[in-house]
This record gives sequence, C-alpha cells and structure tokens, in this order.
Amino acid sequence: MEKGYITELFSSFQGEGPYAGRRQIFIRFAGCHLSCFYCDTAYARDPKPGFCTVFGSEASSKNRSIENPLPSSLVIDIVKGLKTLDLHSISYTGGEPLLSASFVKEIAKEAKSMHLKNFIETNGYSASAFASIADYFDFASIDIKLRNHRAVAENEYDNLYRNAMDCIKISADKGLETIVKVVVLKNTSVKEIETICSDLADFNVKFVLQPVTVPPHLQHADVVPGVEELFALSETAGRFLQDVMVLPQVHKIMRIR
Ligand code: SF4
Repeated sequence: MEKGYITELFSSFQGEGPYAGRRQIFIRFAGCHLSCFYCDTAYARDPKPGFCTVFGSEASSKNRSIENPLPSSLVIDIVKGLKTLDLHSISYTGGEPLLSASFVKEIAKEAKSMHLKNFIETNGYSASAFASIADYFDFASIDIKLRNHRAVAENEYDNLYRNAMDCIKISADKGLETIVKVVVLKNTSVKEIETICSDLADFNVKFVLQPVTVPPHLQHADVVPGVEELFALSETAGRFLQDVMVLPQVHKIMRIR
C-alpha cells in the first residue's frame, strides 16, 4: 500500500472555474517545485510536512492533526467521513498532486470503485505523470503558466509549456472534462493569450482566464488586470475556443478555505 504526504484534507466549495460553488472534498498533496510569485498555497510547497490537518466539515467537529506519511487506506477513510449529500467530486490538489502520482492513483482508483468522481488540479509539469493517473479521473483542471508568473527559470519555460499542452491533449483524448486555467495579470499580453488559444484550438476544453488574486505580501503591487484588459483577453480567446470564461478565485471572496 502506498503512503504519501498530505498537507490538509477538508470539505469546502470549489473556488475556481466552471465548477465554482460545487461541494468537494479537497486532498491537498504536499510539495510543489514551481515558484509562481502569486502562490496562495506556499505552505503546501513543503514536500514533507510532519502532519496533515483534517478540518472538520461541521461547525461542531474538531480539526485533527495526523502524522505524515498517511497510508492511502486512511485517506479513503477520512474521505468517507467528510462525505456530504451535496458532494460533487474529490479534488486532488496541492501543492502539486502529480509529484505524488502513484499515491494519487491508488486513492483515485479506490474512490472510483466507490462511485465517487475524481477531479485533479495540476500545474501540468509532467505529461508522463499525468498519463499514469488520467484513466482514474473524470475532470482535469490544468494550468498554463505565463512567462511572467516566474514559475520556473526562463530556460525551463518552454519545457513546462510543452508538458502542460501534452497533459491537456492526453486529458481531452481520454474524454476527461478538461479545464484550462490561465492566471492573468495587469499587462498580460494579448499576443501570449492568442498563442496559447491557437495551440488549444483543436481540443475540447473549457478555458478560464483567472484575474490574479494578490497575495498579502504583494498588496502594494499594481498587478490586477482591469475590465477592459479582461474584455480584450476574453475576446481573443473567443476567436479560437468556444467555451471561455473570466472568473476570480471565488473562495477568496467568500473567505473560505
Ligand atoms: S504551481 Fe500552484 S502550488 Fe505551485 S507555486 Fe504555482 S501556484 Fe503555488
């Protein structure tokens, strides 16, 4: 049985993209080797946290800390305990879940056998890791990082972009509902969005432009795009793709986890 490092486990509402507002159980896998400047889960980038926090799903229930690494059977037991009647799916998120691909696969396989839906949120850094888990998933939300996100060094960007595109192709070819998310900033270039959407034009995807949420340490920075910029980026995407939306992180507005 696989064991792995999880930062936190909880039930909440999806806060991004076309499934915003749907109830999910979130498994936040530990570790991420990218370094996006706007990262809102920096605490989850530690690959080996000592403990996993399980947040109770009702006001009356207590939070618990469980020593890492966790066996997949315990993760499934916790998922069963967090299940609610309005559950849409299990979100495998991070950090970066593909860094724990074999652990993710074992949990997803068991969840699928319980007729639960699986939803992965990934930065798409490894097409081979994504290919190894895709058959167990119903939904994939794959990020495409822009150069100025500073997710990787400049000389590694092309490789990251290629892998994200390959993940999207694998996801769409296997019939997963495929969501592509791009975090956009003030002065995000129309040309860069045009290139991405042109590369996506052959795939059946839902495309999300997500205005950046400014992290607390950058509150002084002028990085949020204005509505005119968002209109221009959305219209550019619409030239190539049928399903385009603009949505900020709703869970930040709701002030929930
Ligand atoms: S990929 Fe996600 S978790 Fe990793 S640094 Fe970027 S925003 Fe943070």
